[in-house]
Amino acid sequence: MDFKLSKEQEALKEEFEAFFKEEMKDVPPEYGRGGLEGIYATEKGWQFHRSVAKKLGEKGWLSRPWPKEYGGLDAPITEQLIFNEVRERHRAPGVDIFGLGMFAPTLLIAANDEQKKRLLPPIARGDVVYCQGWSEPNAGSDLAGLKTKAEKKGDRYIINGQKIWTTGAHKADCMFILARTDSNEKRSRGLSVFHLSMDTPGIEVRPILYMDGQHLYNEVFLTDVEIPETDRIGAENDGWRLTRETMNFERSNVGMFSEGYNLLNELIEYVKITKRNGKFLSENPIVRQKIAKLYIDLEVGHTLAYKIAWLQEKAGLIFAASAASEAKVFGSELLQRISNFGSEIMGLYGQVAKSKWAPMDGSMVDIYQFCMGINIAAGTSEIQRNLIAWVGLGLPRFK
Ligand SMILES: Cc1cc2nc3c(=O)[nH]c(=O)nc-3n(C[C@H](O)[C@H](O)[C@H](O)COP(=O)(O)OP(=O)(O)OC[C@H]3O[C@@H](n4cnc5c(N)ncnc54)[C@H](O)[C@@H]3O)c2cc1C
Repeated sequence: MDFKLSKEQEALKEEFEAFFKEEMKDVPPEYGRGGLEGIYATEKGWQFHRSVAKKLGEKGWLSRPWPKEYGGLDAPITEQLIFNEVRERHRAPGVDIFGLGMFAPTLLIAANDEQKKRLLPPIARGDVVYCQGWSEPNAGSDLAGLKTKAEKKGDRYIINGQKIWTTGAHKADCMFILARTDSNEKRSRGLSVFHLSMDTPGIEVRPILYMDGQHLYNEVFLTDVEIPETDRIGAENDGWRLTRETMNFERSNVGMFSEGYNLLNELIEYVKITKRNGKFLSENPIVRQKIAKLYIDLEVGHTLAYKIAWLQEKAGLIFAASAASEAKVFGSELLQRISNFGSEIMGLYGQVAKSKWAPMDGSMVDIYQFCMGINIAAGTSEIQRNLIAWVGLGLPRFK
């Protein structure tokens, strides 16, 4: 494969760069370094995220690879990867990872024409925000065992059950939810996917707060919630197949490597100006070796991200599934290694986040703590390794 960007791609990259440079001049302090905390934890951060999303929607940049008739530009996946890479390098908001990253691809694959025309354009314009209603108290890695029921009554489904860890449910307009439509089937065969408006009666969102009180995650209780049959996506009981497809869109995980470069560059600046025992940290041979090793790993991960986009473009989404798992494990664990090393060389100060004493404004310890979540969200590292062994390497399936 050719890793070099074409002239057109370079020009596009510059256009993205110029846009985000301008937008990031107006960052409210509450947004901090962005990520999920920047978006969901404060009202000011949320408003900033929404305003950038609208601007991106107007430009058509949120939905570049979609067909034109549903609000896209019919662009190759690599262009979306370049967009994601630049946006993450600027730590910019504006992308609904659930609506754009997960539900829209499901709609493109499985929705009927009426649903596509109704649900896709608002996502492309950045008008609506989604949350993901998959996990339950007893169904995380073992998602196929979920219990939330969707019982058919005439032309409606009545939903009863509970979801958990629902990121941003307190801010979202809609949820895409996976529920059991066949109670005789205990596993994957009896599940269906639905679109659900969050203002439907019977939905209660309860916060799961961080220890410091920040609000990103939720439990969602559903009691006799009515969903019209026209909001079931795909065939009844075909939800598991769709859900697996949902995970297969732009899965390069390039954003994690962008954030890795950001962190490592900040660390390089830090070691150049910080002295220990009378010498700059940048002169310490162990620090130099470790930084060089982390940089090599970043280059490997970055290359892997481009390979995934290339595979998706040339061979189809499903052929990149195993490589996408590789990038997810490698990227999330690499961020952990970078931030762990950064916090370590800062000594005790490395554990301080929101204080004038926090080196590098607390970014290392912040990311270190957040990485624990990234290793778990969207499939834990163990699950990803199982997938690599099974789908990628042909080992027998784990029972
Ligand atoms: C930051 C964050 C955001 C999240 N946001 C959302 C959201 O918006 N919507 C949503 O629906 N869910 C969300 N989740 C939930 C997430 O999808 C689940 O936490 C995840 O799938 C793991 O499930 P679990 O927590 O029940 O752990 P479990 O499945 O109980 O796993 C516990 C441990 O056992 C290991 N394990 C389990 N099965 C196997 C196996 N077969 N082989 C080897 N090891 C195994 C796991 O790797 C893990 O270490 C989020 C989670 C986090 C951390």
